[in-house]
Amino acid sequence: VAISHHVSSYLDLLLGDLEEVWVMVDATLGNGHDALKLKERFPEAMLYGFDVQKAAVEASTRRLNRQGITTGFEFFHQSHEKIGEAVRGPVDLCLFNLGYLPGGDKGRHTAYDTTVKAVTGALAKLSPRGLILLTLYPGSLRGRIETILLEDHFRGLDQKAVTVMRIQPVNQKNDPPYLMVLKKNSG
Ligand code: SAM
Repeated sequence: VAISHHVSSYLDLLLGDLEEVWVMVDATLGNGHDALKLKERFPEAMLYGFDVQKAAVEASTRRLNRQGITTGFEFFHQSHEKIGEAVRGPVDLCLFNLGYLPGGDKGRHTAYDTTVKAVTGALAKLSPRGLILLTLYPGSLRGRIETILLEDHFRGLDQKAVTVMRIQPVNQKNDPPYLMVLKKNSG
């Protein structure tokens, strides 16, 4: 599908240069495509995953199991606001693929209030070289509202503490999804 193609090419671009990844978080498991990609790229790293839909947690577990991956991950049927409590150790890589689950319940769209809490929790746990990656979907009404509010929040973050970047297609129609990257600054 076009959307997952965007997301996966962003991921390839960014993950290509990443090393020393020991703890990863998939904050929006969905069907587990991103989770599998993370485990394939960093098989030794522990992966924590979250989704508010039980079906998503189950589908993601099955997807990993089908590839013979049965350890080195722990998935929670919980909102990603719990990242701060549930995840142990400094986080090297944290992924938010926002929006709703394609083919699933569109009512379970991610929402600014909870997303911002989760990102704040992840930022507090981020290792010095860690990255938080968010895919934003401004093409739908709910996605647009979430995108605008999140960008507003990010603009307000202290530039000494964190760098926020945007990777965005400029020649595609209809508000394509794009990526934001957060990185802590060491002081
Ligand atoms: N990464 C997924 C994949 O590879 O298939 C796609 C994720 S999908 C675009 C967004 C997911 O976020 C949905 O499965 C939805 O249930 C989940 N979600 C919505 N609100 C959430 C929350 N507060 N905490 C965790 N997951 C949430």
